[in-house]
Amino acid sequence: MSRTVRLLAGLLLLLVGCATSPLGRSQLMLVDDAQMDQMGAQAFEQLKSEGKLSTDSRKNAYVTCVSRAITNQLPAEFQGSWEVRVFDDDTANAFALPGQKIGVHIGLLKVAKNQDQLATVIGHEVAHVLAKHGAERVSSQMVAQGILSGASLALDPSSSTSGLILQGLGLGAGGVTMAYGRSHESEADLYGLDLMAKAGFDPRQSIPLWENMAAAAGGDRAPEFLSTHPHPETRIADLQKRMGQVLPLMEQARAAGRRPRCG
Ligand SMILES: [Zn+2]
Repeated sequence: MSRTVRLLAGLLLLLVGCATSPLGRSQLMLVDDAQMDQMGAQAFEQLKSEGKLSTDSRKNAYVTCVSRAITNQLPAEFQGSWEVRVFDDDTANAFALPGQKIGVHIGLLKVAKNQDQLATVIGHEVAHVLAKHGAERVSSQMVAQGILSGASLALDPSSSTSGLILQGLGLGAGGVTMAYGRSHESEADLYGLDLMAKAGFDPRQSIPLWENMAAAAGGDRAPEFLSTHPHPETRIADLQKRMGQVLPLMEQARAAGRRPRCG
C-alpha cells in the first residue's frame, strides 16, 4: 500500500473508530471487545505455558482474594469469572488482560506489603483493561502499519501481526510486561484508585506502595510501573489530589459491608 493510501485509510479509520475512556479522553478504537478478549485469552495461555506458575497455595489464595474483591465490584459488563494466576517470577510485576485475566508475579508481594497495596497494583492493571488501553494501542499500531481490519490480526507467532497484538497488550518477548504511555499510566493510576476503593480497600495505601516501588527500582531492575511512569513525586501528588474523591467511595463500600480481609 502506498504511503498516501495508508494515510487516507488512517484518517478514515480515525473518523469511524472513536471511543471515550472512563476519564473522558477520546480514543481511537479499531478492534472490538470480542477481538481483544480473544487476543488477551490467547496471550494468557501462552504466558502460562512459557512461565512457571506458583504452587504456593497461601499466596495464590491471597492474590485471588484481593483480585476477586475488586472484580466483583466492576461495572456489569466486566464482571464474570476472572482467571487469577500467580507466576513464580521474582520481578515486582503484575498485569491484567482483556478476556478477564490477571497475572501477578510473586516478586510483587515483597513490594506490595499489605492487601491495600496489592489492591493498588491490581486496581491499576484492571483499570488498563477497563479503559481499553490495549485496544487503543493495537489500533494505533494498525494505523501505523496500514492494517485496515481487526479481522486480519492473528496471534499465531508465524503471522506478521502477532508482535503488534502482544505489544498492544503490553507484553514483550518472553512475557515481559511493558509500560503503557504516560497518559495511559496516569489514567490507570486514578481509575485504579476508584476500583480499589469501591471494593473497600484503602486508597491511601497507594502512596506507600508507589514509594516502595520507587525504592525497589533503585537496583538494576526497572519494574513495568516505573520505566515510563510519571516521576514518583508527580505521581504521588496526583494521587493525593484524588483522595478527596475516592475516600468517600471506600466509606460507602465499607458501610455496605465490603471490608476485604485477605490477610
Ligand atoms: Zn500501567
